[in-house]
Amino acid sequence: NPLTHVVSIPPYPPGRPTDAVAREFGLDPASIVKLASNESPHGVAPGVIAALAEVDAASNIYPDFDCYDLRHAIAADVGMAPDQVLPGAGSSEIILLAARAYLDGTRKAIIPQYGFQSYEGAVRSVGATPVFVPVKDWVPDIDAMLAAVDDDVHLVYLASPNNPTGTVLPRAEIERFAQALPPHVLLVLDEAYREFLAPEDRPDIARLFQMRRNLIVMRTFSKIHGLAGLRVGYGLGDGELLQVLRRLQLPFSVSAQAQAAAIASLSDSTFLERNRVENESERARVAAALEKAGVRILPSGGNFLLLEVGDGPAISRELMRRGVIIRPVANYGLPTWIRATIGLPRENDVFLGALDEVLRAAG
Ligand code: PMP
Repeated sequence: NPLTHVVSIPPYPPGRPTDAVAREFGLDPASIVKLASNESPHGVAPGVIAALAEVDAASNIYPDFDCYDLRHAIAADVGMAPDQVLPGAGSSEIILLAARAYLDGTRKAIIPQYGFQSYEGAVRSVGATPVFVPVKDWVPDIDAMLAAVDDDVHLVYLASPNNPTGTVLPRAEIERFAQALPPHVLLVLDEAYREFLAPEDRPDIARLFQMRRNLIVMRTFSKIHGLAGLRVGYGLGDGELLQVLRRLQLPFSVSAQAQAAAIASLSDSTFLERNRVENESERARVAAALEKAGVRILPSGGNFLLLEVGDGPAISRELMRRGVIIRPVANYGLPTWIRATIGLPRENDVFLGALDEVLRAAG
């Protein structure tokens, strides 16, 4: 069957939209708390609204496929050259481009256990074989991953903080891996949640690029920037390598609106820092409340927590009936856990209250 590798792709399970849940359960959409997709509760930077108003009139024109202004803005922000930046339609597009460039039906890619689900989809979409390497104490096991490398392995996806676990791989471990991974393997370091880490805990990517050329560092505007709806992220890496990936890109995949909004958002460091600090304090508050209630949680470096609740899918349904949308993670082989995004204090209180009620009812 020529479709075998396609039907082996796990379907992407998006968080249910607020309106759909409101209709199904007869709830007021305004009362629903959605903590299912690690979206930002802080909206967008004020400058984004003005930037979007300016591009609106240009919707009859294709966007700049070269993303000239955005690449220059990102380059200045990260301290690299503009040709070392490749914007995409979310970092999701970069995940896919890496697989399309480096893999085929004869090749394999390493994915740590509990790695973000799109990695497997990308690998299988080109007929390649994923090699899942068990984690050690909930974080990727660097030595086990190195041991899994052979001549057929051409790609490794590694996220820190990781989704859905939230766990952080220490900087020194990432560096050890970048150094030891054979040069023929592309390392995709997924930093979708980087900005939620304290600055001193963030990987030093200049050091990583000194250690290996075959590296793409991936970031997104969907999380701390609050631009998930516009679909924009980027890869950082060697200019020639990115040119190869670019050949595989869907033309004009990053809209003019997304480009303008991303540029405006990058310039508002006050907004970003405030979001980080608020996430950190709310995450600590929610974690403490859960621990006090006897709920096991994993340490998280992201804008979400993974918590053990018993029957994850059943608890998720009960929460949804009460207007709280979180993410069951049974599809990751974690049927007793759920993932909850950190929202505004009021939203987190609604979540904690509903969870308390549901867990009591479940006994
Ligand atoms: N990587 C990780 C680890 C993620 O959690 C997500 C979003 N859930 C993505 C990549 C993709 O995000 P986007 O395409 O919106 O940039």
